[in-house]
This record gives sequence, C-alpha cells and structure tokens, in this order.
Amino acid sequence: MDKMRSIALDKHILFHKVEFYKHNLNDQDKQALLEMLDSTFLTTGKLVADFEKKFAQYLSLDYAVGVSSCTHALELCLRYFKIGPGDEVITTPLSFVATANAIEYVGAKPVFVDVEESTGNINHELLEAAITQKTKAIIPVHLYGQMCDMRAVKVIADKYNLKVIEDAAHCIEGQRDGYGVGQLADAVCFSFYATKNITSGEGGAVATHNRDMYEWLLRGRSHGLSSNAADRYAKKYQHYDMEFLGMKCNMTNMQAALLINQLERIEELHIQRKKIVDSYDQCLSDFTTPLKVGKHAYHLYTIWHKKRDILLAFLQEHMIGAAVHYRPIHLMSFYKDKYGYQSGDFPHAERIGSKTISLPLYPMLQHYELEAVISTLQMFKRLHDV
Ligand SMILES: *Cc1c(COP(=O)(O)O)cnc(C)c1O
Repeated sequence: MDKMRSIALDKHILFHKVEFYKHNLNDQDKQALLEMLDSTFLTTGKLVADFEKKFAQYLSLDYAVGVSSCTHALELCLRYFKIGPGDEVITTPLSFVATANAIEYVGAKPVFVDVEESTGNINHELLEAAITQKTKAIIPVHLYGQMCDMRAVKVIADKYNLKVIEDAAHCIEGQRDGYGVGQLADAVCFSFYATKNITSGEGGAVATHNRDMYEWLLRGRSHGLSSNAADRYAKKYQHYDMEFLGMKCNMTNMQAALLINQLERIEELHIQRKKIVDSYDQCLSDFTTPLKVGKHAYHLYTIWHKKRDILLAFLQEHMIGAAVHYRPIHLMSFYKDKYGYQSGDFPHAERIGSKTISLPLYPMLQHYELEAVISTLQMFKRLHDV
C-alpha cells in the first residue's frame, strides 16, 4: 500500500463519522431560549420583532418579517404581488424543490431557465428568451452561497416590468458588485432550516425596501388579520378583522430567541467557514469546483465530479457525510409528469446535477475531521481518477 493511502487509512482507524452538518448553537443561544420559555408569550412577539429589526439592519434593507420557512416566504411574496393562475414565474431548475413548489402553490407556472456552466446559477443571458406575456416575476437562487449577477437580472426585470424575488436560502452574507442580497430586488427570502448558516430548526424571513409590502406581510403571515395575538395581549383588547386571505406562517419567539445571537456572530461564523473553504480550495485543486465571484456566503462546499455516485458511496464507506445539491427540479417526477420535461431540456443544470457533491462545511468541523475529508478525497482521486 502506498504511503499516502496508509496515512489516510491510519487517520480513519481513529475515526467516528464526520457529520455532513452540525449546528453551532452555543450556551448563549440555549440560555436565550430557556429565558424565553419562562416568559408568557411563546409565539410571535417582541423577540421576533427584535430579530426582524436586527436582521433588516444586517442586510441594509428597511424591513424584515419572520416566517416559518423560506418556502412560505416565497409563497407569501408571490401572493403579495397577486401572482397566480395564468401567470408564469421564471426560476432555475438547479435548486431545492421549494423554489419551484412555491410557484406551484399559488397556481402559477414555473418556467425554468438553464444555468451558467461556471457557477450553477441561473444564466441571465437566457432570461429574455423565456419571457412571455404571462411572465410576472423572476426568482433567482444564489446557489451554494454564490450571488447571482443581480445587476444583470435587474436590467432585464426593469425592461419587462417583472418583479424580482431572490431565494437567498444559501446566501445571507453574500455580496456582489457592491450589493448585498435583496438590494436590487423587490424582496428577498431566507431559510433558517436545520442545516442553514444560521438556524432555528425551521424558520424563514422576507426582507424588502417596500413599506407597503412590509405591512402586508405582517398580516399576510397571520391569516390576513388586522392585529396579531401579541398586540391583543399587550394592549387593550380590540376585536380583529380579517382583511384578506393570508397564510399561517408566522415566526415564533422560540425561533427568534435562537436566531438573535447567531445573527450577532454571523460574520464570525462566516470567517470560520472561509478557513475551511480555503483549506479545501488549496488541497482539492485537482477537483472541479464552482466559480466564486464577490463575497461568497460559503453555505455549501461543492465539487463537481463525473463519478459522483461512486464518490458518494466511497465517502459514505469512509464515514464522511456528504450530500447532493441538487438533482434538477424539472426531472423530478411531479414536474416531468405535469409539464412533460425530458432529459436534455436544461443540459447545464443536468450536467451539474449529475456531478455535484457537497462536503462538510461548518464552524464545528474539527481540524482532524477536515484532514480526513481531504485525505479521503485525495485517495479517491488516486484510486478512481487515473
Ligand atoms: C432550504 C432551501 C429552501 C427552503 O427553505 P425552508 O426554510 O426549508 O422552506 C428554499 N430554497 C433553497 C435554495 C434552499 O436551500
């Protein structure tokens, strides 16, 4: 056995599983949750409002509204813009199914546009060809934490009078060309799902510059009621009215209690992930990775390898957690059956979807774990890639 491989194997003998993801909730976060649980009000209240204020500030946007998921955030935005049956919304096939599902939920049609070969993000050069009389909005997704070229997207959106709703589930911290997420859009949606950069297990938010939208969202996340339970609790009881048919997707104080401190250390956590990314970049230069432009949010570290499924099994065998982000949406049975999509419709998304594999990337990843991931990949390269 050659030397390099035996070193890699030595490390493995000591080894427990390297998890694909571990959250970084610390004592302060846990304490905040416990204190919250000692108060009267578990659902949407002051802590949610505090989080929203801090989150909007962090994003340099005027308003943020906490909701129960990014999926609901996207749907809520589409409902605010009155997008529904008969309308089309352009998005990328290379995302989590939630992005397209939100469009389905409101009864509109998701229209996919193929992605850039270099980043996996929606290719803005192909946008215009997909626009029809029915097109109402574009939902770009900042895949892996790499921001789309939002300046280019905005030029096209303005030309055709389309709304732009960013799916920034991977990209709270991203910047490109001097703009953060949401700054060139009508709204931006976030996820605080269990594996996202900051998390409350489940959760989401919408941020926007638009005051009218903000006021609508506050009610739209609670059935369309004119006042929420916290208002009725804190102030003199007032009867509520239901002004429109909203959703039920409000963020709770329990979620906000977990998120507030994480938001305070979000840049610190970003730096910690960047160090891991730098190590991967340095040691895995033989592998193909997506291009990074501007400030990457470092949500996922992804490599593109033609023997992806063999690599996935190999990593699993060596107790290294890995995941696939994503096999393209248009080839999921539901979308294939409903719209008749076929292999070959979006070749770049399909090619990336068949090659992509995401490696462990989180601040709690220990140095020896990182080394094990790297040496296992190097071993794979030597065994399978000659
Ligand atoms: C996680 C994710 C979502 C969905 O987020 P939820 O909060 O689980 O609804 C949407 N889009 C992308 C790109 C995601 O990664």
